[in-house]
Amino acid sequence: MIERERIRTLNAASEQPGARYVLYWMQAAQRYSQNHALCYAAERAAELRLPVVVLFTLADYPNATAPQYRWMLAGLKETAAALRKAGIAFCLRRGEPSALISEYARGAALLVCDASAARWARRIKDGLAAALRLRVLEIDGESVIPTAVASPKQEWSARTLRIKISGALVHYLDCPALKDPKSPRASALYGPAEAGLTSDDELFSAFDGAAPPAYPGDRALEQTELPLPGAKAAHKAMRVFIERRLDGYDAGRNDPLAEGCSGLSPYLHFGQLSPIELGRLALRRGGPGLSAFLEQLVIRRELCRNFVWYRPEDYDSWDALPAWSRATLLEHAGDKRSFVYLRKDFEAGSTHDRYWNAAQAQLVRTGTIHNYMRMYWGKMILAWSGHPEEAFKTAIYLNDRYALDGRDPNGWAGVAWCFGLHDRPWPSRLVFGTVRAMAYSGLKKKFDPEAYARRWLGT
Ligand SMILES: Cc1cc2nc3c(=O)[nH]c(=O)nc-3n(C[C@H](O)[C@H](O)[C@H](O)COP(=O)(O)OP(=O)(O)OC[C@H]3O[C@@H](n4cnc5c(N)ncnc54)[C@H](O)[C@@H]3O)c2cc1C
Repeated sequence: MIERERIRTLNAASEQPGARYVLYWMQAAQRYSQNHALCYAAERAAELRLPVVVLFTLADYPNATAPQYRWMLAGLKETAAALRKAGIAFCLRRGEPSALISEYARGAALLVCDASAARWARRIKDGLAAALRLRVLEIDGESVIPTAVASPKQEWSARTLRIKISGALVHYLDCPALKDPKSPRASALYGPAEAGLTSDDELFSAFDGAAPPAYPGDRALEQTELPLPGAKAAHKAMRVFIERRLDGYDAGRNDPLAEGCSGLSPYLHFGQLSPIELGRLALRRGGPGLSAFLEQLVIRRELCRNFVWYRPEDYDSWDALPAWSRATLLEHAGDKRSFVYLRKDFEAGSTHDRYWNAAQAQLVRTGTIHNYMRMYWGKMILAWSGHPEEAFKTAIYLNDRYALDGRDPNGWAGVAWCFGLHDRPWPSRLVFGTVRAMAYSGLKKKFDPEAYARRWLGT
């Protein structure tokens, strides 16, 4: 049974009598096991003596690249197979999500959704909750501590959130794993065909084949070193990390050459891995790296979710930055920059700085950048753009386009952090004002940036 505080009812409608199934719109949690929303749907379906139908709507998501779509669809294919094996119907359809969900909702007793905070998903859920004459709920299974429970307001910094939630960490992590849901009647009595539902399984390969670049200068074709997709690959990577690298996490996490981090952010972003399962297994393993790891996985990650949750309309815009940081950056907008680049120069990785170019190459090829270099990458876009607002837009654009784990609260808040979010004023500097600055000299204190540049630039 899932914790009741993970459930939010989005309208006052009741469950529909005479329905044929319980509908789960899978979106953020693209997995079969340890999926709280799916478990809730199955629990309720069992009580109503109905099967569960899972619907995934493949929408056109501006910015995401074809290799990223392929990656997601490969993971979904694995999830579809696991669901169907458990007797749960899985339908993949392409089109406008609200229209597709409304079509499926006609036969449903209730609609269960993931609690994604992304603006587009929230608008769809709110619209459906207002329009449909059946109960619509969302389940927060992608936060260790449900976002709305962790804090009733936007938090100022990691410190203020930590005070509120660190006491609840063990409560939410030291719990038994969810039982894998089963829905035997779905295939026996109400398979997709019998229920009048259709699944377009050909869509699993919708992005196969050569995809032309979206526009001149696009580097999506170079995304050839993405990690292996899917829940099985995610679990393998998680086990290897917990068994072999968790102990050294604190010491190794700031060295991009040491492979001290987990590399799990793409799996968490697409919901191929549950953050609760990851946190629970790390807690059970324990050891010297645990507290530093939970600081990132829970406190920092959930601070980003808090930011997006409480700023749904502008989390990816300049206006969401703290007033003090916008003011100081604008005050220094006229400062002379040592270099000025346009978005296309950053995108091409053609700045004067081979370490920055190496980070951009890593982002394009693998879909992520090591955390330490990610900070440098974002701060230098601020340092070398003609205006701070232009810099902000460039960083959001590049992160959302090329990061496999992008279009995520961590990405929007991570970029905003480079511009002062969740931070405090520091001694004033040119261009940065009182926003925390970062410089190339700092890299050398942490690791060998030349070796990093050679790794990604080949020279
Ligand atoms: C400019 C910039 C852009 C960023 N863009 C993204 C993004 O698009 N997607 C993304 O997931 N993260 C982003 N981050 C945060 C962080 O860099 C990544 O989460 C981390 O590097 C992912 O690697 P990992 O899984 O090996 O992390 P690990 O160090 O192994 O940490 C485990 C998990 O904890 C969470 N985490 C770690 N560091 C942070 C952090 N600083 N803030 C929030 N959560 C964190 C992530 O979910 C991560 O997967 C960004 C940071 C900056 C400065």
